[in-house]
Amino acid sequence: MNIADKRVVSIHYTLTAADGELIDRSADGEPLVYLHGAGNLIPGLEDELTGKAAGDALKVVVAPEQGYGMPSDELVQRVPREAFGGIEELQPGMRFEATDQQGNAHPVVIQEIDGDEVVVNGNHPLAGHTLHFDVTVAEVREATAEELEHGHAHADGHHHH
Ligand code: ZN
Repeated sequence: MNIADKRVVSIHYTLTAADGELIDRSADGEPLVYLHGAGNLIPGLEDELTGKAAGDALKVVVAPEQGYGMPSDELVQRVPREAFGGIEELQPGMRFEATDQQGNAHPVVIQEIDGDEVVVNGNHPLAGHTLHFDVTVAEVREATAEELEHGHAHADGHHHH
């Protein structure tokens, strides 16, 4: 069976930066399982997987525009320290969820603490990076009705979210 929309795909992958540094990989023996065509993978990787089948191996280089985008200055903001009321020790590198005016949560990381202000960065950590994927397709199957309704895969039929 080939990879197409509305199919659930299991892949083993290794993700490295342009300089070969390991960024991320699927756990040993445990593939990443996702629903194809539902926006669950970055577009540059999903496009290249279309049409592949179990056993296929491929290398994919994804430019930032087809990956996590370019970092935006607008996502770097200064907020008053009081906004973190209740947290004793703020440090660069700490991660939080910021809520925007529409009530949507966005992950942010503290970039810097500058007196009474905290500089938070809402860019994806991989924004601006060219991504090198080494992928092996482990399995392709039809999605269940429930998976299609939810827009994501349920590994081994278990509902784990
Ligand atoms: Zn679900």
